[in-house]
Amino acid sequence: MRIVLLGPPGAGKGTQASKLSEEFHIPKVATGDMLRAEVSGGSDLGRRAQEYMRRGELVPDDIIIRMIEARLSEEDCRRGFILDGFPRNIAQARALEGIVTIDLVIHIDVDEEEVVERFTGRLACRQCQAVYHRRFNPPLHEGVCDACGGELYQRVDDREEVVRQRFRTYREATQPLIEFYRSRAILERVDGSGTIEEVAAHIREVLASRGLVTSAG
Ligand code: AMP
Repeated sequence: MRIVLLGPPGAGKGTQASKLSEEFHIPKVATGDMLRAEVSGGSDLGRRAQEYMRRGELVPDDIIIRMIEARLSEEDCRRGFILDGFPRNIAQARALEGIVTIDLVIHIDVDEEEVVERFTGRLACRQCQAVYHRRFNPPLHEGVCDACGGELYQRVDDREEVVRQRFRTYREATQPLIEFYRSRAILERVDGSGTIEEVAAHIREVLASRGLVTSAG
Protein backbone atom coordinates (compact mmCIF):
# COMPACT_ATOMS: atom_id res chain seq x y z
CA MET A 1 0.00 0.00 0.00
CA ARG A 2 1.85 3.06 -1.27
CA ILE A 3 -0.30 6.08 -0.68
CA VAL A 4 0.05 9.83 -1.05
CA LEU A 5 -2.15 12.21 0.94
CA LEU A 6 -2.63 15.47 -0.90
CA GLY A 7 -4.37 18.59 0.36
CA PRO A 8 -3.90 22.10 1.71
CA PRO A 9 -2.24 22.87 5.04
CA GLY A 10 -4.78 22.20 7.77
CA ALA A 11 -6.72 19.57 5.81
CA GLY A 12 -5.87 16.95 8.45
CA LYS A 13 -3.39 14.98 6.34
CA GLY A 14 -1.08 14.38 9.30
CA THR A 15 -3.88 13.09 11.51
CA GLN A 16 -5.24 10.78 8.82
CA ALA A 17 -1.74 9.58 7.89
CA SER A 18 -1.14 8.60 11.53
CA LYS A 19 -4.40 6.66 11.68
CA LEU A 20 -3.62 4.77 8.47
CA SER A 21 -0.08 4.08 9.63
CA GLU A 22 -1.34 2.57 12.87
CA GLU A 23 -4.04 0.55 11.24
CA PHE A 24 -1.98 -0.92 8.40
CA HIS A 25 1.40 -1.08 10.14
CA ILE A 26 3.21 0.91 7.53
CA PRO A 27 5.22 4.07 8.21
CA LYS A 28 3.94 7.60 7.86
CA VAL A 29 6.53 9.57 5.94
CA ALA A 30 5.96 13.28 6.57
CA THR A 31 8.50 15.66 5.05
CA GLY A 32 7.38 18.51 7.34
CA ASP A 33 8.11 16.37 10.44
CA MET A 34 11.45 15.26 8.98
CA LEU A 35 12.44 18.86 8.29
CA ARG A 36 11.39 20.04 11.76
CA ALA A 37 13.57 17.28 13.25
CA GLU A 38 16.51 18.51 11.13
CA VAL A 39 15.90 22.08 12.27
CA SER A 40 15.76 21.20 15.95
CA GLY A 41 18.78 18.93 15.58
CA GLY A 42 20.73 21.87 14.12
CA SER A 43 21.97 19.97 11.04
CA ASP A 44 23.21 21.72 7.86
CA LEU A 45 20.07 20.60 6.09
CA GLY A 46 17.96 22.03 8.92
CA ARG A 47 19.75 25.36 8.72
CA ARG A 48 19.15 25.56 4.97
CA ALA A 49 15.48 24.62 5.30
CA GLN A 50 14.57 26.87 8.21
CA GLU A 51 14.20 30.19 6.40
CA TYR A 52 11.87 28.77 3.76
CA MET A 53 9.72 27.09 6.38
CA ARG A 54 9.42 30.27 8.40
CA ARG A 55 8.12 32.12 5.35
CA GLY A 56 5.60 29.40 4.42
CA GLU A 57 7.52 28.69 1.19
CA LEU A 58 8.68 25.37 -0.19
CA VAL A 59 12.14 24.13 0.70
CA PRO A 60 14.21 23.61 -2.52
CA ASP A 61 13.42 20.40 -4.39
CA ASP A 62 16.97 19.00 -4.36
CA ILE A 63 17.01 18.93 -0.53
CA ILE A 64 13.58 17.33 -0.26
CA ILE A 65 14.06 14.80 -3.02
CA ARG A 66 17.37 13.57 -1.61
CA MET A 67 15.79 13.29 1.83
CA ILE A 68 12.75 11.35 0.60
CA GLU A 69 14.77 9.05 -1.62
CA ALA A 70 16.89 8.01 1.35
CA ARG A 71 13.84 7.51 3.55
CA LEU A 72 11.86 5.41 1.06
CA SER A 73 14.81 3.07 0.52
CA GLU A 74 14.78 2.10 4.21
CA GLU A 75 13.67 -1.40 5.14
CA ASP A 76 10.43 -0.41 6.89
CA CYS A 77 9.07 1.26 3.73
CA ARG A 78 9.32 -1.91 1.68
CA ARG A 79 5.78 -3.10 2.52
CA GLY A 80 4.28 0.33 1.86
CA PHE A 81 4.04 3.82 3.33
CA ILE A 82 1.82 6.86 3.68
CA LEU A 83 3.32 10.03 2.25
CA ASP A 84 2.17 13.21 4.00
CA GLY A 85 3.37 16.53 2.59
CA PHE A 86 5.26 15.08 -0.36
CA PRO A 87 5.13 15.63 -3.30
CA ARG A 88 4.34 19.35 -3.13
CA ASN A 89 4.92 20.26 -6.80
CA ILE A 90 5.20 18.67 -10.25
CA ALA A 91 9.01 18.36 -10.12
CA GLN A 92 8.76 16.38 -6.88
CA ALA A 93 6.00 14.19 -8.31
CA ARG A 94 8.13 13.36 -11.33
CA ALA A 95 11.08 12.55 -9.10
CA LEU A 96 8.84 10.28 -7.02
CA GLU A 97 7.81 8.40 -10.17
CA GLY A 98 11.47 7.64 -10.71
CA ILE A 99 11.80 6.17 -7.21
CA VAL A 100 8.65 4.10 -6.66
CA THR A 101 5.18 3.33 -8.06
CA ILE A 102 2.34 4.95 -6.12
CA ASP A 103 -0.93 2.99 -5.81
CA LEU A 104 -3.27 5.78 -4.79
CA VAL A 105 -3.35 9.53 -4.20
CA ILE A 106 -6.05 10.74 -1.82
CA HIS A 107 -6.94 14.40 -2.18
CA ILE A 108 -8.36 15.67 1.12
CA ASP A 109 -10.36 18.67 0.00
CA VAL A 110 -11.01 21.65 2.32
CA ASP A 111 -11.60 25.27 1.36
CA GLU A 112 -9.41 28.18 2.33
CA GLU A 113 -11.79 29.88 4.77
CA GLU A 114 -12.23 26.69 6.76
CA VAL A 115 -8.46 26.21 6.90
CA VAL A 116 -7.97 29.79 8.11
CA GLU A 117 -10.57 29.27 10.84
CA ARG A 118 -9.00 25.99 11.95
CA PHE A 119 -5.55 27.54 12.31
CA THR A 120 -6.26 31.01 13.57
CA GLY A 121 -8.54 29.68 16.32
CA ARG A 122 -5.81 27.41 17.61
CA LEU A 123 -4.22 28.14 20.99
CA ALA A 124 -1.21 26.40 22.48
CA CYS A 125 -0.02 26.26 26.08
CA ARG A 126 3.39 27.84 26.71
CA GLN A 127 4.12 25.34 29.45
CA CYS A 128 2.82 21.92 28.40
CA GLN A 129 2.17 22.45 24.63
CA ALA A 130 -1.46 21.27 24.96
CA VAL A 131 -3.52 22.55 22.02
CA TYR A 132 -7.01 24.10 22.17
CA HIS A 133 -9.31 25.78 19.70
CA ARG A 134 -11.35 28.91 20.41
CA ARG A 135 -14.40 27.38 18.77
CA PHE A 136 -13.98 23.62 18.50
CA ASN A 137 -12.20 22.86 21.77
CA PRO A 138 -12.17 25.93 24.04
CA PRO A 139 -10.39 25.93 27.40
CA LEU A 140 -12.62 26.22 30.48
CA HIS A 141 -11.16 29.65 31.34
CA GLU A 142 -10.12 32.02 28.57
CA GLY A 143 -6.38 32.16 28.01
CA VAL A 144 -5.60 29.49 30.62
CA CYS A 145 -4.59 25.86 30.05
CA ASP A 146 -7.05 23.34 31.60
CA ALA A 147 -4.28 20.82 32.11
CA CYS A 148 -1.57 22.86 33.81
CA GLY A 149 -2.81 26.43 34.29
CA GLY A 150 -0.20 27.75 31.82
CA GLU A 151 -0.73 30.73 29.53
CA LEU A 152 -2.31 30.07 26.11
CA TYR A 153 -0.95 31.81 23.02
CA GLN A 154 -1.14 31.75 19.23
CA ARG A 155 1.82 30.21 17.40
CA VAL A 156 3.54 32.33 14.75
CA ASP A 157 2.73 29.66 12.13
CA ASP A 158 -0.97 29.95 12.96
CA ARG A 159 -1.28 33.69 12.29
CA GLU A 160 -3.65 34.56 9.51
CA GLU A 161 -1.08 36.08 7.15
CA VAL A 162 1.19 33.03 7.45
CA VAL A 163 -1.72 30.62 6.97
CA ARG A 164 -2.85 32.53 3.87
CA GLN A 165 0.72 32.45 2.50
CA ARG A 166 0.90 28.68 3.00
CA PHE A 167 -2.44 28.33 1.26
CA ARG A 168 -1.17 30.47 -1.65
CA THR A 169 1.89 28.24 -1.96
CA TYR A 170 -0.44 25.24 -2.00
CA ARG A 171 -2.64 26.73 -4.71
CA GLU A 172 0.25 27.69 -6.96
CA ALA A 173 2.64 24.76 -6.55
CA THR A 174 0.70 21.78 -5.21
CA GLN A 175 -2.80 22.05 -6.66
CA PRO A 176 -1.57 21.20 -10.21
CA LEU A 177 -0.81 17.72 -8.83
CA ILE A 178 -4.54 17.01 -8.72
CA GLU A 179 -4.65 17.06 -12.55
CA PHE A 180 -1.29 15.27 -12.75
CA TYR A 181 -2.56 12.29 -10.74
CA ARG A 182 -6.05 12.36 -12.22
CA SER A 183 -4.50 11.85 -15.64
CA ARG A 184 -2.74 8.78 -14.24
CA ALA A 185 -6.07 7.47 -12.91
CA ILE A 186 -4.81 7.07 -9.34
CA LEU A 187 -6.58 10.08 -7.78
CA GLU A 188 -9.52 9.95 -5.36
CA ARG A 189 -11.12 12.96 -3.68
CA VAL A 190 -12.36 12.90 -0.09
CA ASP A 191 -14.34 15.70 1.56
CA GLY A 192 -12.12 16.95 4.40
CA SER A 193 -14.67 19.21 6.08
CA GLY A 194 -16.13 16.62 8.51
CA THR A 195 -14.85 15.31 11.82
CA ILE A 196 -11.65 13.24 12.02
CA GLU A 197 -13.71 10.05 12.20
CA GLU A 198 -15.93 11.01 9.26
CA VAL A 199 -12.94 11.76 7.05
CA ALA A 200 -11.25 8.51 8.17
CA ALA A 201 -14.40 6.58 7.19
CA HIS A 202 -14.41 8.18 3.72
CA ILE A 203 -10.78 7.22 3.26
CA ARG A 204 -11.58 3.62 4.20
CA GLU A 205 -14.36 3.58 1.58
CA VAL A 206 -11.96 4.83 -1.06
CA LEU A 207 -9.34 2.21 -0.13
CA ALA A 208 -12.00 -0.50 -0.33
CA SER A 209 -13.30 0.74 -3.69
CA ARG A 210 -9.75 0.55 -5.04
CA GLY A 211 -9.30 -2.97 -3.69
CA LEU A 212 -6.53 -1.91 -1.31
CA VAL A 213 -8.42 -3.21 1.74
CA THR A 214 -11.38 -5.55 2.12
CA SER A 215 -14.60 -3.69 2.82
CA ALA A 216 -15.67 -6.27 5.43
CA GLY A 217 -13.67 -4.72 8.31
P1 AMP B 1 4.09 20.67 6.74
O1 AMP B 1 4.30 20.22 8.14
O2 AMP B 1 3.90 19.52 5.77
O3 AMP B 1 3.04 21.73 6.59
O4 AMP B 1 5.47 21.35 6.28
C1 AMP B 1 5.99 22.49 6.94
C2 AMP B 1 6.95 23.24 6.01
O5 AMP B 1 8.02 22.38 5.61
C3 AMP B 1 6.32 23.69 4.69
O6 AMP B 1 5.66 24.93 4.84
C4 AMP B 1 7.54 23.78 3.79
O7 AMP B 1 8.29 24.95 4.04
C5 AMP B 1 8.36 22.60 4.25
N1 AMP B 1 8.04 21.37 3.48
C6 AMP B 1 7.45 20.23 3.91
N2 AMP B 1 7.33 19.32 2.93
C7 AMP B 1 7.88 19.89 1.83
C8 AMP B 1 8.06 19.47 0.48
N3 AMP B 1 7.64 18.27 0.05
N4 AMP B 1 8.67 20.33 -0.38
C9 AMP B 1 9.10 21.54 0.03
N5 AMP B 1 8.95 22.01 1.26
C10 AMP B 1 8.34 21.21 2.17
